[in-house]
Amino acid sequence: MRDCNNMDVLFSPWRYDYIKSAVRKELGCFICSYVKDDKDDDNLVVFRGRKCVVLMNKYPYNRGHVMIAPYRHVPSLEDLSDDELMDCSNLILALIKAEEEILSPDDFNVGINVGRAAGAGLEEHMHVHVIPRWIGDAGAIPSSYGFSDVERDMREIMLKLRSRLGGLVYRDSDGEEIHTH
Ligand SMILES: [Zn+2]
Repeated sequence: MRDCNNMDVLFSPWRYDYIKSAVRKELGCFICSYVKDDKDDDNLVVFRGRKCVVLMNKYPYNRGHVMIAPYRHVPSLEDLSDDELMDCSNLILALIKAEEEILSPDDFNVGINVGRAAGAGLEEHMHVHVIPRWIGDAGAIPSSYGFSDVERDMREIMLKLRSRLGGLVYRDSDGEEIHTH
């Protein structure tokens, strides 16, 4: 039987606050502020790629929910340069591989919400969601988890992903550096 009640209790209020706060324009762009800041651990910045950055989603749908965004503050996929598209694609593939190793999900949702009507909380700075999924998502979040457990878990996943990503995204199978541009 699908056991999603715990996830609803844990995450729905967060998402509600997030959506409310996203409506407030004075907040500015958190992706840009995290990129400029040097506190990656505090900001849950997982990895800085060549053209794009990887962030943990602080209001996750599931364990290991991450976002990939270009460094440039642009609203749409169509605004990305070839280099940015290439880096974004490489990072998506590397994240899927790293999360398979670290979290053993059954599958993934990979997607982009284009515009607020489509559900984007931050429509000005485009980003791709990568969300690991488990069948029924039962057991993805232990039922005993509270707020601090979720945060601790998020930080552990961030550190594991960070240490794995560089080798996956910019090295070939022989360990040689990949020069894409
Ligand atoms: Zn931005």
